[in-house]
Amino acid sequence: MSDPRQPLRLSADRDRCAGAGMCALTAPEVFDQDDEEGLVVLLHPVPAPEHQAAARMAVGLCPAGAIALDSPDSTAP
Ligand code: SF4
Repeated sequence: MSDPRQPLRLSADRDRCAGAGMCALTAPEVFDQDDEEGLVVLLHPVPAPEHQAAARMAVGLCPAGAIALDSPDSTAP
């Protein structure tokens, strides 16, 4: 069970990113795209509480599976 008070940690894999831009559209405070390749730029690996819902939505919408949530719980074997 994840604790909503735990900080949310994000990761982005630019090798998988397809430059679709869903993340930057959905959570512009958290994600951006670089000007040259359009690949994801993670602005805030630990988003502020008010941006966490949008960040989670962006993870779900990414068509390439290039962004992920790393909650402390999910690292357990
Ligand atoms: S939504 Fe996914 S594929 Fe699109 S720019 Fe963001 S990380 Fe890249």
